[in-house]
Amino acid sequence: MHIKTGDIVEVIAGDDKDVKGKVLHIDREKGRLTVEGVNKVYKHVKRSQRNPQGGRLSKEMPVQISNVLLMCPKCNKGVRTGVKEENGVKHRVCKKCNASLGEVSKSKKKVAAK
Ligand SMILES: [Zn+2]
Repeated sequence: MHIKTGDIVEVIAGDDKDVKGKVLHIDREKGRLTVEGVNKVYKHVKRSQRNPQGGRLSKEMPVQISNVLLMCPKCNKGVRTGVKEENGVKHRVCKKCNASLGEVSKSKKKVAAK
């Protein structure tokens, strides 16, 4: 899965199936990610100095990466992706229509020139 923060994904399983949202956070170790507006939990808070109003706070909880698919703007739905290399740059591509879905995020450490 080549999903990165800021991507728009579609949820394909669970209570929020078919919901689309932006990836807010990715926990690659746990294989989970947080998507805007997906898997929201509400927390009731009492009035306090920090929350003079009290009331409800909502917060997105992480979902399994395998439960989301990257959105393809051309297909207008979540799709499976592949990776294609072009001129030394790896692109994610939609497996359905072959459209490029952006570069694969570069690794943090720079690869030494050969
Ligand atoms: Zn597509």
